[in-house]
Amino acid sequence: MRFFPRSGTQAFVPVSKGGVGLSEVVHTVCDACYEEVDAPLSMVRETVDIRGVPITDEFVYPVCPSCGNRIGHAATMDRNFAKMYGAYREAAGIPQPDEIVALRRRYGFSQRVFAAVLGIGVASVQRYEGGALPSESHAELLRRARDRRFLLERLRGGALRLSAQERERALRAVEQQATSRVDYAVVRLDLLDCLPREVAPETGMRALDADRLREAVVYLAAHVGNLFVTKLNKVLFYLDFSAYRDEDVGFTGLRYARADYGPVPDQYDLVMAALVDGKALSYREQGDGRVVVAHRGADLSAFSPQEVARLDAVASFANGFSSCAELSAYAHEEEAWRETPSGALIDYGLARSLHTSSLNC
Ligand SMILES: [Zn+2]
Repeated sequence: MRFFPRSGTQAFVPVSKGGVGLSEVVHTVCDACYEEVDAPLSMVRETVDIRGVPITDEFVYPVCPSCGNRIGHAATMDRNFAKMYGAYREAAGIPQPDEIVALRRRYGFSQRVFAAVLGIGVASVQRYEGGALPSESHAELLRRARDRRFLLERLRGGALRLSAQERERALRAVEQQATSRVDYAVVRLDLLDCLPREVAPETGMRALDADRLREAVVYLAAHVGNLFVTKLNKVLFYLDFSAYRDEDVGFTGLRYARADYGPVPDQYDLVMAALVDGKALSYREQGDGRVVVAHRGADLSAFSPQEVARLDAVASFANGFSSCAELSAYAHEEEAWRETPSGALIDYGLARSLHTSSLNC
């Protein structure tokens, strides 16, 4: 790789003692006057062109004390090249050597397997991990290797130098990485998957549907004033139990348990973590609590007109209380709560006794 110092941008600055961690003097032969000299290192701020990209930085050269020549010296030039290449990769968006190693190890690939996936030589991978600058076409492959979909594409479509078994193993590694990455969409979906979704008496005879639940909460967040988390728990309880009372099937498929402060969705920490993902819903700190806020309108296509009417009825029911405490006190009078032992699941059958006359839909 050639680089071309630009004239007029050079300014020699003496290297301060211990400043750059290099020895201050290099014993070498000057390549201009051919004298054996102890050449002091000087720091030069200059601009070099690498593949048309101007890189400005401080580089270190031994300077001949006899003739003033800047001596070509392999060990110090390697350091300069490493610096120039690092800056160039940064500017060109090419993975740095340690990122290439990390990319490869993320999937447990050996250099040979990684090279086969990219369709380049093992020696090239070794050189790039060691700091050599990739060719333009290889640089593009390394950039795209950051995207696991690209790796899957390569593995499914080619990687001819791998055995069938190696390809299978590599595919599995890349696919598994997809679910273990901190990808919020994936993680949140997994959280909801942890909840029971069978049709059973304790789910109100409805299988939990994550989308229905989310859209219902998005709608409620927009229609119930100050929807504190504690209020949402009760609102969901009334939504589900009134639906069961009237239709013999709950609204969301959530299970409810008796907490000391009222009925709550079972595993409600998990439910809230799954729902309030910072996209459709987020929290706003208010007073001592957190209010659930919607960031978009609800998609009501999953609901019948009667179901939308029930959402409205539950919202106006909740808005009829002046405080969370008042709604809590009301819920504490429900047989469904009083008849259930602390911590136990609440029987949907107790919905028959709800004394919420305002919740007729
Ligand atoms: Zn010299």
